[in-house]
Amino acid sequence: TAINLANNGIKYFRAGIWKPRTKPGGFEGVGVEGLAWMKRVKEETGMYTCTEVATKAHVEAALEADIDILWIGARTSANPFAMQEIADALVGHEDKIVLVKNPVNPDIELWIGALQRIYNAGIRKLGAIHRGFSAYGKHLYRNRPQWHIPIELRRRMPQLPIICDPSHIGGKRELVAPLCQQAMDLGFDGIIAESHCNPDAAWSDASQQVTPDILSYILNLLVIRKEKHTTESLSELRSQIDECDNSLIEMLAKRMRVCRE
Ligand code: PEP
Ligand code: MN
Repeated sequence: TAINLANNGIKYFRAGIWKPRTKPGGFEGVGVEGLAWMKRVKEETGMYTCTEVATKAHVEAALEADIDILWIGARTSANPFAMQEIADALVGHEDKIVLVKNPVNPDIELWIGALQRIYNAGIRKLGAIHRGFSAYGKHLYRNRPQWHIPIELRRRMPQLPIICDPSHIGGKRELVAPLCQQAMDLGFDGIIAESHCNPDAAWSDASQQVTPDILSYILNLLVIRKEKHTTESLSELRSQIDECDNSLIEMLAKRMRVCRE
């Protein structure tokens, strides 16, 4: 998978060495053994490597193995104790790039709190990952995007890069492409997506995996519009929508009057 991604021009390789699974018995990652495989990926392809950390022990092992980027998963960013433990383990490693996924629940304060704990540990190469929010029951998306939440994060922390995880939002491979385009249209700074050389055989989240070739095809088709939707242009559009809403409601009221007659 790594070689194929690199041949397609991808520069960053994400792989979960430790995988938080909702229920015991799922594939929980290969663990430290896989850190050597990550090193091999870096040596053979030149890609930067990234993995998920959830405990002090993970951070220490990942730093020791020279992983370039650490990300914190949605089940972990929802837990201030875990976030503080990770932040403390990062003190003295100010050069690391750290990405914080949104917590599983749609709570922007909890997300910002998690980011602040990492910032307070001295990390300045900080970014956020939008991976959607869980909801009870079956829905189109595995995790609802609720785009207004990352947009609000952008308004509150304008300097913070925010990237989108279409794989965990969609949960199905056919949703990856439209979600990538939506993220670009909303001015996201990048994409973190899952890829596997044989998607159906993947040991985790098989239904949302795409091959490196398909991923590259999706990325090449993306339309990156020049003008970013800034907060100002969004509120301008918002007031145009309000105007349309008002005319629609007036029209419906008029229709009701005619019906009554
Ligand atoms: C992952 O990135 O593979 C993962 C487990 O994601 P999340 O924390 O968003 O569920
Ligand atoms: Mn996953």
